[in-house]
Amino acid sequence: MAVNKNGIVVLGAVFVDIKGFPEDVYIPDGRNAGKVEYVPADTVIAAVGENIDGTLYEDMGVELDRKGRPVVDANIMTSVEGVYAAGDSRRGPATVVEAIADASKAAAAIAGISYEKYAEANVAEDSAKYIAKKGYQSPDLTEMPDKRCLGCSTVCETCADVCPNRANISIKVPGMAMNQVIHVDYMCNECGNCKSFCPYASAPYKDKFTLFASEADMADSTNDGFAVINPETKECKVRLLGQISDCKADDANDKLYEGLRRLICAVIDDYSYLIMK
Ligand code: SF4
Ligand code: SF4
Repeated sequence: MAVNKNGIVVLGAVFVDIKGFPEDVYIPDGRNAGKVEYVPADTVIAAVGENIDGTLYEDMGVELDRKGRPVVDANIMTSVEGVYAAGDSRRGPATVVEAIADASKAAAAIAGISYEKYAEANVAEDSAKYIAKKGYQSPDLTEMPDKRCLGCSTVCETCADVCPNRANISIKVPGMAMNQVIHVDYMCNECGNCKSFCPYASAPYKDKFTLFASEADMADSTNDGFAVINPETKECKVRLLGQISDCKADDANDKLYEGLRRLICAVIDDYSYLIMK
């Protein structure tokens, strides 16, 4: 933030070679005062304002919709091969989270990578062995350490095991190698047991992606998670990084990233008993 000598506040500005600088402009914390920097660039895109400036797109021959937004495919590539549009330049005013989601989609398409490519390789070969040992307590101390170790770093799920209300649930998500633990809001009485037992500094009843019984319950919590609005169409309300948005979990073009969409679909399809009517 900067304030000029007439007291007018200027937000989000980068000052480059302004005549009279710094006499005319006062930056409260003194950062960059008097410093002029030249940054080489092919194109400078002004990111101030609430509308998309379509002139750059038009110059490139990018197709725009009736609201002046670039038309993009599932990988957010525009109608011009190799030109991608992300964040505010695609949606108009949007959140940082949506910009990050767009950027990650574009990066995956450009680089030809799948974020799930190494998921299987990350699973310890002996995870089944550790799951089988859950609940096993050997009185024989000579069995240390291998037989007694529960391998928390490989398979934990302790928060699911210790919850007296079964409010943390380990679910199988198609396409994901490891089970995922979700929290079920309406079954939790916030006893804090899972927080006490978590081997990491986590409070699973607050930190785990949470299934809410309704939008009202969701509004009553700060947890990231989702409420299923319509199980048939897979329409949901999702809170991610504190931002609430609408989501259609089975739509590959939805802005929500694929892993979370898959998780929500798994709950709707395979654990429908958890969804309150
Ligand atoms: S805080 Fe909630 S989720 Fe955690 S153990 Fe208690 S009831 Fe279960
Ligand atoms: S939140 Fe804690 S207790 Fe639950 S699976 Fe993760 S590490 Fe284990």
